Amino acid sequence: MQINRSVIAVHDGVRATWAEVNLTRLEHNLAAIRQRVAPAKVMLIVKANAYGHGLVEVSRALAGKTDYVGVAVLEEGILLRELGITAPIIVLGGIWRDQIGHYLQHDLTLTASSVERLEQIDAAAGEMGVKARVHLKIDTGMERIGIHYYSANLLQEAALRCRHVEIEGIFSHFANADSRDPAHARLQLERFNEVLRFYERRSLPMPIRHMANSAAILQLPESCMDMVRPGILLYGVYPSPVAPHAVEVQPALAWKSRVVYFKVVKPGHPVSYGSTWQSDHEVRIVTVPVGYGDGYFRSMSNRANVIIRGKKYPQVGTVCMDQMMVNIEWDSAYNGDEVILLGEEGSMRITVEDLAEWAGTIPYEILTNINTRVPRVYIAD
Ligand SMILES: *Cc1c(COP(=O)(O)O)cnc(C)c1O
Repeated sequence: MQINRSVIAVHDGVRATWAEVNLTRLEHNLAAIRQRVAPAKVMLIVKANAYGHGLVEVSRALAGKTDYVGVAVLEEGILLRELGITAPIIVLGGIWRDQIGHYLQHDLTLTASSVERLEQIDAAAGEMGVKARVHLKIDTGMERIGIHYYSANLLQEAALRCRHVEIEGIFSHFANADSRDPAHARLQLERFNEVLRFYERRSLPMPIRHMANSAAILQLPESCMDMVRPGILLYGVYPSPVAPHAVEVQPALAWKSRVVYFKVVKPGHPVSYGSTWQSDHEVRIVTVPVGYGDGYFRSMSNRANVIIRGKKYPQVGTVCMDQMMVNIEWDSAYNGDEVILLGEEGSMRITVEDLAEWAGTIPYEILTNINTRVPRVYIAD
């Protein structure tokens, strides 16, 4: 167990709501993915606070066991360098010109999505007297960042003219790898393979090719190429209900709180803002100090369940910013009792898929919205 301020806060009894991240499970998930895709390399995707698991701790624990680290924005990359992470780090998102110097200063790999940007990178690297490490981004059907596959040769040719740039990699991203119908993903893969023929035709060395996200690792193994970019799967969650479970992973995050209040509510006395719920008989209602300000979505009001003392109970009334209420009918619960919002106890479990269904969203959004106000506690099996 790693001791940090969050752990101390929980053990002190300062904070009644916390997220528990199991580092052993993360390591297991990474190893399972690696086994599935070998000999392809694995890029650890830790954007968005490592899908809510904690950018700093997850990177510290796993960066040494991976080939590459992928983040979405420059700030995340700089933070990792300041922590002393020495693994290669790529920022996968778009770049604007004024950021280029920061990339070079922190030895971060740049994503080049256009000829103009690549030339700006080359010029900046020349001025600083360094060589920029760059991956070319090809858009094969996502219409996000990246040069269109049908114009990609312009970017590839521009790269040959650059003096201060090393084209270490080339990549693309699937729009529909998690769909039951693989047709669009296959089309994207074909387009990417066509772009890659540029190097064969000119007998140039092939840069590191990467395209597969979690869903593609599971159902399109031919897209694994030289490196894969798993995000959600690393955290033990399957990217969609239809993706085959071709890699066995286990959820690494549990979200817990404690009962802080107990009262008996008479029939016809509605609970919480807007009076959206009331009972027709006397019930015991407990208050739990978690709300939408922590990332427990208001849209889950009157739909969610929690586990207390090994049993599931319904959340009732509107979820508030910092608190919510749970109906335990005529059972017992005491101040300080653990409340499982996400996780397991005995045979009972609440999954991130459950929360996503109650909130009307996808698991990705649930995990990345667990607010920084919720301390992360790191455990090992
Ligand atoms: C977020 C992201 C990934 C990881 O996606 P998952 O579906 O979580 O595996 C891979 N590549 C890029 C470019 C991304 O932005």
